[in-house]
Amino acid sequence: MLLCFGLSSNQAFSQKNTPKVVVGIVVDQMCYDYLYRFYPQFGKDGFKRLMDKGTHFRNVTYNYVPTYTGPGHASIYTGSTPSNHGIVANEWHYRPFGREVNCVEDTTVSTVGSTSKYGKCSPYFLRSNTITDQLKLTYPTSKVIGVSIKDRSAILPAGHLSDGSYWYDYATGNFITSTFYKNELPAWVNRFNDRKLVSNYVNQPWNLLKDSASYTYIKQDNSPYEGLVGGKTSPVFPYDFSKLSPADQLNVFTILPAANTFLTDFAIQALTDEKLGTHATTDFLTISYSTPDIAGHTFGPYSLEMEDMYFRLDQELARLFQTLDKQIGKGQYVVFLTADHAVVPVPQFLADHKLPGGYLFLKDKTDKLRAKCISKFGKDYLNTIENDNVYLIDEVLGTETETQVIAFFKQEISQWTEVKGVYTKEELQSKTAENWQQMVASGYDKERSGELIFILQPGFLPKTADTPNSHKGTSHGSAFNYDTHVPVLFYGKEILPQDVFTPYEIVDITATLVHVLDVQRPNTAVGKPMLELFRKK
Ligand SMILES: [Zn+2]
Repeated sequence: MLLCFGLSSNQAFSQKNTPKVVVGIVVDQMCYDYLYRFYPQFGKDGFKRLMDKGTHFRNVTYNYVPTYTGPGHASIYTGSTPSNHGIVANEWHYRPFGREVNCVEDTTVSTVGSTSKYGKCSPYFLRSNTITDQLKLTYPTSKVIGVSIKDRSAILPAGHLSDGSYWYDYATGNFITSTFYKNELPAWVNRFNDRKLVSNYVNQPWNLLKDSASYTYIKQDNSPYEGLVGGKTSPVFPYDFSKLSPADQLNVFTILPAANTFLTDFAIQALTDEKLGTHATTDFLTISYSTPDIAGHTFGPYSLEMEDMYFRLDQELARLFQTLDKQIGKGQYVVFLTADHAVVPVPQFLADHKLPGGYLFLKDKTDKLRAKCISKFGKDYLNTIENDNVYLIDEVLGTETETQVIAFFKQEISQWTEVKGVYTKEELQSKTAENWQQMVASGYDKERSGELIFILQPGFLPKTADTPNSHKGTSHGSAFNYDTHVPVLFYGKEILPQDVFTPYEIVDITATLVHVLDVQRPNTAVGKPMLELFRKK
């Protein structure tokens, strides 16, 4: 990179007064209220350090649907919405391939660090530059590293020019990468993998961290709203997976808080061995904690398991911040923390507690829709419904019949009582003042989205069919505040302790980082800088 820019290292550009390192932390599925709900049990150096000594933006929301992990990470780091960066879901029906694709899959690359398939990934589908790309483009001496359990959460934040993006290999318990980035793992990653930490961690049972008086949900451990994992017959502590087969252990590991510890171990190793903070220009480390989401889907936000998960994650953050103090120096780095989306309470819990909520059972609805389509048009024109996107079969696209089928589907789907609104691709490509339609339009991509997109009523989740299991656990993806309102905290170099109540959108984070890093706005960034961050004493 240095050579192609015609520079030698002693001629490096220099920024004016930027931090040595920026650390971006995403906590997958973290709701805004967790900061307050769990505050009394947090130690002084984890979340509390960010809340009490940093700038806390208390009204930041997602400004598009769907609120999933891939789109969330892409939007945080590009400062843009799926309508621009193209990450419209975690998986979507992709017409050019005639099948479903994953947002970071790339069949042209190979796994590095394992013989498994889990490394066949890259940011191929990401259409925009990230703030980390912009940093590398502007200051080639900067280093960017991305780490996470989930592939997409390591790949999308660190962008196309990443010096190393590493994620968890379910086949070996190693951190892996792909040939998109490099052809072999750095020595320090191999050394880390050789320690085989996963088998250590997974054999230690997950028990409560604190005494029982510290927990709000101590009496509701055995809840009917929680899913079962690892062969357990009731969703209660302790979670002891030491008897499972090694293959099952590698799978179940990512739901344990120990996976947050494992990721923190790796992030600290990256900080040390990649010598972050010692380069001529600012380095950037992106860390995404996936485990709170994996566990959150199973247990829901009002569970003893999630309370303990956050008490433990707080300790991991403290360990990370103490390492940054020691290795980079207090006041020499900037940390920000946010979430890729939040989550709805278990819909069955809502319904049982006289609150609005429930399920849309798709198999039944889709079968009826297909039958009606055949009786009206003599043919089934529905290809698939995925992520509340309705895809027609390819052969009808661009024909006169297409318009009629879309109108018919719109009319039919708007009659489903679980549905709040249905929008056609034409509506999604025209201007609107309607808030929900605008949010759907900001998540729409003409190549990757369906011919129609619908949104459900508040508190509702789509499920394939009505089974006992479909009433347990929860998910996210909606335009409503339970999914869109997330924490945004900045801490470190020249950042004042303050609470900011100005409403901002998730795309504003990158627009703000532009001025932390002295770079141009990334190509499709649409956000505005959060000006309060730059207040001086
Ligand atoms: Zn999730």
